Amino acid sequence: MSSEANEAFRSEVRAWIDRTLPSELRVGNRKEVMSTPAGDAWIKNLGEKGWIVPDWPTEYGGGGLDRKQAQIVKAELAAFRAPVVKGFGVNMLGPTLLEFGTEEQKREFLPKIARNEMNWCQGYSEPGSGSDLASLQTRAVRDGDEFVITGQKIWTSYAHAADWIFCLVRTDPDAPKHEGITFLLFPMKQEGVEVSRLTLIDGSADFSQVFFDGARAQARHVVGEVNQGWTVAKRLLQHERSSDGGTEGGILGTMKETFVDIVKREVGLRDGRLADPAMRQKLAAQEMETRALALTMKRAMEEGRARQTKRDIGSLGKYRWANMVKSEQDLVVQAMGTQGLGWQGPGFDDVQLERTRALLTTRADSIWGGTNEIQLNVIAKRVLGIPE
Ligand SMILES: Cc1cc2nc3c(=O)[nH]c(=O)nc-3n(C[C@H](O)[C@H](O)[C@H](O)COP(=O)(O)OP(=O)(O)OC[C@H]3O[C@@H](n4cnc5c(N)ncnc54)[C@H](O)[C@@H]3O)c2cc1C
Repeated sequence: MSSEANEAFRSEVRAWIDRTLPSELRVGNRKEVMSTPAGDAWIKNLGEKGWIVPDWPTEYGGGGLDRKQAQIVKAELAAFRAPVVKGFGVNMLGPTLLEFGTEEQKREFLPKIARNEMNWCQGYSEPGSGSDLASLQTRAVRDGDEFVITGQKIWTSYAHAADWIFCLVRTDPDAPKHEGITFLLFPMKQEGVEVSRLTLIDGSADFSQVFFDGARAQARHVVGEVNQGWTVAKRLLQHERSSDGGTEGGILGTMKETFVDIVKREVGLRDGRLADPAMRQKLAAQEMETRALALTMKRAMEEGRARQTKRDIGSLGKYRWANMVKSEQDLVVQAMGTQGLGWQGPGFDDVQLERTRALLTTRADSIWGGTNEIQLNVIAKRVLGIPE
């Protein structure tokens, strides 16, 4: 499409969002708006338009847009601070199924993911298998047209709310550890699946341990080949690592606002504090870091499209992004002064309490999807080509 056509499309997108997105929802993915009737109606509307996944083919519920147009949709949604759907289905399993799924699997799952009608969780980590994921022990044994699953997963985010799980299981215990793993989809609401919630440092309990004792999966829900799940698992991790680390809908989308604007809006930073040279320096450094990362990831994505860069470049974004959001939250809480020290009770408003908890939540960002050390290993090996 020509650049004039793209700009015309941008105007259309902007007009559509402005017309359909109620002003009270223009606050991003805040919990209190996501689960309201207005929030639900907005997401339904977005799904019907195909714009939850604007770049997926229309036959699977997407918008059928080319990359540039899909970027425009994501950037405009971010500019309006519109609530959007993120997470396991849209960012990870969907793109993996588009590449590795059978036609039957695509038709069964993708339209539901594209309309946000199906919640997924990720069954990768086990008590003894985190960074060394390929050592996982959860077993799946073939029984006719089904597999029977026994074992345990841990740190399974949103398992309590999930309809289905994409799960790594060991199907050949005698094969070398990377070669006996299968990528399997099965329902969570069945006998033989038990979810036990864990509370996090920020007070939320979105994590669980998941126990399987004779849970069942259909053999037609193996993604890729039996015993070849490691390839599928790695690709999903690449999507996971790319989903927050500086993509168009992420920090690139928020570049229209400066970090100072965000701090002022979110924590009501008084101008007096902005006059403090130490604070000004920190805010400027944070702003530069954010913009440098956004531009680096934009360049990496362009190079990726031109096939000049490795897919594992997402690890670089994930690593820098995790550090960035941690220092961002540190700075926000510093800017709040004593109002940043609240945990509960009177004296602190909801936004202040949310910010303090966000500081704690971001500690996890250098762990999920592979720790910072693991991202550095991936960058060294697969991006820079440094021998082990
Ligand atoms: C918020 C959050 C959400 C998560 N959600 C999910 C989920 O939904 N599903 C899921 O399956 N898992 C999930 N996880 C788990 C996550 O993937 C693991 O915690 C992570 O891979 C690290 O594994 P581990 O906790 O076992 O730590 P370990 O692997 O035991 O690592 C301990 C320390 O050793 C270091 N280390 C280990 N190996 C190496 C190495 N080779 N080189 C250098 N350093 C090394 C690590 O960097 C770390 O500092 C989540 C974690 C978090 C924090």
